[in-house]
Amino acid sequence: MKEKIAFIKDEIKNACIKCGRNENDVTLLAVSKFHCEQEIQTAIDNSLTIFGENRVQEACSKFPKLLEKNPNIKLHFIGSLQRNKVKHILPYASCIQSLDRFELAVEIQKKMETLNIVGKKIEVFFEFHTGEQSKSGYTQIEEIYRTLDFIKAKKSNFIIPKGFMTMAPLTQDETLIHKSFETLRNIRDEIQKNEKDFSLSQLSMGMSSDYKIAIQEGSTMVRIGTSIFGERRV
Ligand SMILES: *Cc1c(COP(=O)(O)O)cnc(C)c1O
Repeated sequence: MKEKIAFIKDEIKNACIKCGRNENDVTLLAVSKFHCEQEIQTAIDNSLTIFGENRVQEACSKFPKLLEKNPNIKLHFIGSLQRNKVKHILPYASCIQSLDRFELAVEIQKKMETLNIVGKKIEVFFEFHTGEQSKSGYTQIEEIYRTLDFIKAKKSNFIIPKGFMTMAPLTQDETLIHKSFETLRNIRDEIQKNEKDFSLSQLSMGMSSDYKIAIQEGSTMVRIGTSIFGERRV
């Protein structure tokens, strides 16, 4: 795994250099779904600090111990999230990247109020639907504005919007992948222009198969699973 991590970091750096970006502007998020605590600990021992999980039950069985042992690591939730699972993931996640509908933000706010964990804030990314394959994500910009207005109206500041997330279509056609990432970047630019109360700079886009394209299109966070941990076990 040490070599794989070194390789992917190098590839990210090269992709940045190639398009004139600073390598420090792209964060590597290690997608650890389907991989066991021990493998994740190995990744931590090789200096990875941000992890992504897409299922609440799995995340909640692996991460309480990992977080206790490694207080410097962070868990981002990246999968589709049912409302009744929000209260389970909130204590462990620092960020929910898959905020994909207004009602979910309402539930997150509600549970942040009732859980009332000392010092706890939850970061969120708005997941936007830009590719045909993925079913999840906002499809209307107006709904993102509506969610931002809701968050703004709550004076508690429990929810901290940080940016946007998307999944490109699963295709060999690079033009379509570029287009998907470009769409997300344009949405961020437009919404940021109109929303001076929040800093929405983050663009979470790019996975093992398409992160180089994502970096060209302005990604600030690539979500890499297979290239770090190998094929997922079922
Ligand atoms: C699984 C997953 C990834 C990582 O995919 P790889 O192809 O293994 O790098 C990234 N983002 C999301 C939302 C995922 O579910």
